[in-house]
Amino acid sequence: MAAACACLIGCPATPEAPAPAPAPTPTVAVEPAPAPTPDAVEPAPAIVSVSVWQHAQGARAVFELPAPARQVQLRRSDAVRRDTWRSVTPGVELVDGLVTSAEPLTRFELTLAPDPVEIDRIYPSLHRVGRGVALYGPALLVEGVETHVVLRPDAGSVAIPEHAAEAGYAYLGPAEEVTQADGLRIVAGDDITPALLATIRREAEVSLRYYRDQLERPGREPTILVATSPGPFEYRGDASQSAVISLRFMAAHMHEADVTAPQFVAKFVRHEAFHLWNAPTTEGVPDWLHEGGAEYAAIVSAVANGALTQEEGVAQLSRNLGRCSEALGERSLVTAELSGWQIYACGVTLQWVADVEARGGSQGRRDTFAIWRDLLRAGDAGGYTLADLRAATGPTTALLLDAAGPRRWPDLARAVAGHGAKISDGADAVLEAPALAPSR
Ligand SMILES: [Zn+2]
Repeated sequence: MAAACACLIGCPATPEAPAPAPAPTPTVAVEPAPAPTPDAVEPAPAIVSVSVWQHAQGARAVFELPAPARQVQLRRSDAVRRDTWRSVTPGVELVDGLVTSAEPLTRFELTLAPDPVEIDRIYPSLHRVGRGVALYGPALLVEGVETHVVLRPDAGSVAIPEHAAEAGYAYLGPAEEVTQADGLRIVAGDDITPALLATIRREAEVSLRYYRDQLERPGREPTILVATSPGPFEYRGDASQSAVISLRFMAAHMHEADVTAPQFVAKFVRHEAFHLWNAPTTEGVPDWLHEGGAEYAAIVSAVANGALTQEEGVAQLSRNLGRCSEALGERSLVTAELSGWQIYACGVTLQWVADVEARGGSQGRRDTFAIWRDLLRAGDAGGYTLADLRAATGPTTALLLDAAGPRRWPDLARAVAGHGAKISDGADAVLEAPALAPSR
């Protein structure tokens, strides 16, 4: 089974994944601290502290609670799984994320084994990276209580990040498997071939510099974990809020040319790298906006830097346009509920239309990165929104966003033609694009 494109599954990682409806029987999180006496000073904030270290089975985590409790509910989320986790504290059970104990306790310990398989839209809570492990920190959060995750590396090992491991992916493992590159760190064991690692490093270095220049923003220095995965997806990638990116290749396909080919890896790495800038922080932003933004930026930057030819780039756009046309039919993008590959296909198409409109309408002074500069600037005050996209684009883009019905695709083809691009047939969606390289 192949993943249709990079990070098909819920990337970028967000620590605030949508929670399902509350369980019918209310569970108690950490029991509240005793009510303060009238003359008491302001009580200290209740914080759960979780210490994590490597262990033969994967990792161990000790939870220390601010007050005795019989029940502790781990953060409800459909984006994580914990079914390989076990309690090692006598009398303490862990079932469906609920820790229970007959006696009030302030401390309990769990074993975290690596997730046995990848599951669509779910982050592995723990996966091996060489001789180390990668933890998805948000899986350790306690419902309703501030939780701090502290990594405890063994001698000769490192923790990345050193603080706030609850924000996203975190690496715990041998320092010798960490390589400092230009503007990033890479972590991999000897299960990753030197040729693949060299391609990932080169593409990451080049694309980070490129995005920084185009977006006029410094960005964050990421750590890229490269690992083999149990499958069933041939590859998967997730960027996360901790600036740690995980790229995983199914071991059985590691030596197959299509998954590790430089052109493929170029786009895979560049997609994840763009999420360091465009990961949304506003709830309700549709996935096709940030996923399409990352995928389109990956294609454009790969063409601009020579990792893809112009023809290869246009062929990829045409494929996305064709699939989006199939996915949307006569529906508008904002009303269609897309899933899986549809999110990427229509997200890329939206970005291409917006880019064509921006360049055509500004005699080449604006382009896709100018749109993203506007979005990111608007987002500085708490996250960009769909309204910010509308403000940064024009009526041609609105034809894809909002128009519906049988005239929409022909109308869109006519509108992009006015900006010098061509969709030769809206149904078959073969396009001819002007040069993909950005305007500056
Ligand atoms: Zn993505």
